[in-house]
Amino acid sequence: MPYDLIVIGSGPGGYFCAIRAAQLGMKVAVVEKDKTFGGTCLNIGCIPSKALLHASELYEESGLLFDKMGIKVGRPKLDLAAMMKFKDEGVDGNVKGVAFLFRKNKIDTFRGAGRIAAPGKVEVKAADGKTETIEARAIIIATGSDVARLPGIDIDERRIVSSTGALLLDKVPDRLLVIGAGVIGLELGSVWRRLGSKVTVVEFLDRILPGIDNEVCRQFQRLMEKQGITFKLSSKVTAVDAADGKLKARIEPAAGGAAETLDADVVLVSIGRAPFTEGLGLEDVGVKKDNKGRVVVDAHYATSVPGIYAIGDVIAGPMLAHKAEDEGVAVAEILAGQAGHVNYDVIPNVVYTYPEIASVGKSEEELKDSGVDYKVGKFPFTANGRAKVNLQTEGFVKILADAATDHVLGVHIVGADAGNMIAEAAVAMEFGAASEDIARTCHPHPTLSEAVREAALAVDRRAINM
Ligand SMILES: Cc1cc2nc3c(=O)[nH]c(=O)nc-3n(C[C@H](O)[C@H](O)[C@H](O)COP(=O)(O)OP(=O)(O)OC[C@H]3O[C@@H](n4cnc5c(N)ncnc54)[C@H](O)[C@@H]3O)c2cc1C
Repeated sequence: MPYDLIVIGSGPGGYFCAIRAAQLGMKVAVVEKDKTFGGTCLNIGCIPSKALLHASELYEESGLLFDKMGIKVGRPKLDLAAMMKFKDEGVDGNVKGVAFLFRKNKIDTFRGAGRIAAPGKVEVKAADGKTETIEARAIIIATGSDVARLPGIDIDERRIVSSTGALLLDKVPDRLLVIGAGVIGLELGSVWRRLGSKVTVVEFLDRILPGIDNEVCRQFQRLMEKQGITFKLSSKVTAVDAADGKLKARIEPAAGGAAETLDADVVLVSIGRAPFTEGLGLEDVGVKKDNKGRVVVDAHYATSVPGIYAIGDVIAGPMLAHKAEDEGVAVAEILAGQAGHVNYDVIPNVVYTYPEIASVGKSEEELKDSGVDYKVGKFPFTANGRAKVNLQTEGFVKILADAATDHVLGVHIVGADAGNMIAEAAVAMEFGAASEDIARTCHPHPTLSEAVREAALAVDRRAINM
């Protein structure tokens, strides 16, 4: 019997879509080419990177802070193999969770690479070469993204690695060269620095973390430098010589000029990700892509071919798991005749370093560029009681509110646990809150979240603890 829906790809976009569609009464099939479900996020992205960030943060903290708190554990010793096992067990639990949810929601799963043979028809080729064709009223492309590569620099996932190899190293590299100061480079650079590497980050632009509020980035870069990470901005790596068992990276100024050579034991290429549509047969069925290889969709996630939809990293927009998840839910609801919708103005963005960066809404630069008149409220964690007692005083909260209406337009946090705190700002913005609404909301004491309230009070120059 044909399905109502075939979802190709079981990452956060695909598996959320499949489950929501099943909840709405659809008969759903999921096609996945990898051994486990969960896509990039659960297998080689969000989950394993956060496991290593968490473990390496505790490792560093136990050496630096425990003593100050009267906890005598001696110098921490690293058992990297055990740390990797801890990470793998976390991944295993998560991917098994997706398999359980598929069973629970009576979703059929097909192991193999899916190819759209025609609208309504997906051919699945299993690892042993066997193929079968399944049919459905609608097909969702949720095939995600793959590592973006640099011409002339071959990733072998041992010494020249992508994020995937950087999550698997069996030895702490003495010198790690990170190409690209984006989220993934800074998160994985932080992991290996904490475990003992000397980390240098080379970035083509004159700033780190493009897209994030400038003031936040400036303070964050200083904090990273204090922790021992070296940045070479406005620079590009043009070649990595891997002869003689050593890696020698050639680094040139972005604007041109004399090159220098930097020795490294491992090079991490983290210049971004590219949409993945290989083998899907999109050209044959006429699904249009843009000049960046992303599947083109309308506001309802419909591609140029009726009955074929796309969501997640494979379409335009921030490459984030929660964006893919929300699109998965939205398209399932649209197909069920409901009003599925994603508010792209309120998608939080988090960098899970220490301290974390979290933001939602517009940066100051974006507001200036679009000529919006705004007010700023800022509050530093040095003035927050809980941050002081926890020895977590780095960073600040910044709230940007419309000068005329007081509506919250953007919230930016650098600080411990910023990723959890930003959810409050996202809810407030989703409900169209004014900074006054956050300022008037009773926040629990003593928590870091009081800094969010104080920043809201500071919009109107009435912060209490400053
Ligand atoms: C190191 C790293 C850390 C990250 N950390 C975060 C984070 O902390 N927070 C966050 O929000 N985002 C993070 N991301 C990004 C996040 O992983 C992606 O945005 C998210 O996984 C995209 O989901 P998706 O469903 O679109 O695609 P994916 O998760 O990429 O899933 C696509 C799936 O489709 C399958 N597939 C592809 N083609 C076919 C085919 N033809 N047939 C069958 N199956 C196919 C793939 O095997 C894969 O399982 C991180 C990424 C990386 C690499």
